[in-house]
Amino acid sequence: MEKREKLYEGKAKQVWSTDDPALVVQYFKDDATAFNAQKRGTIASKGVVNNAISEVLFKELEANGVKTHLVRRLNDREMLVRRLSIIPVELVVRNIVAGSMAKRLGLEEGGDLPSPVVELYYKDDALGDPMINDDHVVVFGWATAEDLRHIKQEALKINQVMRKFFLERGILLVDFKLEFGRAVSGEVLLGDEICPDTCRFWDAKTREKLDKDRFRRDLGGVEEAYQEVYRRVVQ
Ligand code: UDP
Repeated sequence: MEKREKLYEGKAKQVWSTDDPALVVQYFKDDATAFNAQKRGTIASKGVVNNAISEVLFKELEANGVKTHLVRRLNDREMLVRRLSIIPVELVVRNIVAGSMAKRLGLEEGGDLPSPVVELYYKDDALGDPMINDDHVVVFGWATAEDLRHIKQEALKINQVMRKFFLERGILLVDFKLEFGRAVSGEVLLGDEICPDTCRFWDAKTREKLDKDRFRRDLGGVEEAYQEVYRRVVQ
């Protein structure tokens, strides 16, 4: 598969066209940002770790009936995926109170939610990804009511599959972010990546943070945490 031109460069990834208009290559960088890119840094080998973890998770989801953009991992930092027209709505699924939910609602981090909570955010860096609801999505035409219902249902199914997968590896899945898009075929697929940049992972015994919060909050041991998730998920 020939990489042709760079279509897009984001905070953590590049997307390259290929000789097939329906496929693109995702290249995973070591660059890390937080707080809407106000904090910047690099995390050694993050791209390699996130590419490998995302591959394992997309395969696990496919095995459980979730359609994803994964075609195959090409090498350490590159993954061949179906080209998507991204729906500009980020879905966050939460099992345990943390991050912006704790802040917004004045709650302590760590409380179990009696059932998962799905939140929607408008994907717009300039606006800092504001929280929105179902009506905004449909009224502003970001997705149809039917597509929205479908991706929310998929998000809950993905949560079920991933919670079990991580618990078997001694990890609590606290919360995570998903993006979906429409492929050239017309199907709506799960896109982007699923990794310690986009999920909160806590060790099930010690509740130690094994994700990007170590970078966001200057907790130290950032690379080690990513490596630990890699060890439990990939090896
Ligand atoms: N998240 C993400 N990208 C974003 C915002 C959030 O991947 O632009 C993930 C984040 O890693 C966490 C979950 O979504 O696993 C919930 O994030 P939260 O709303 O608590 O925001 P944060 O406080 O992390 O910015």
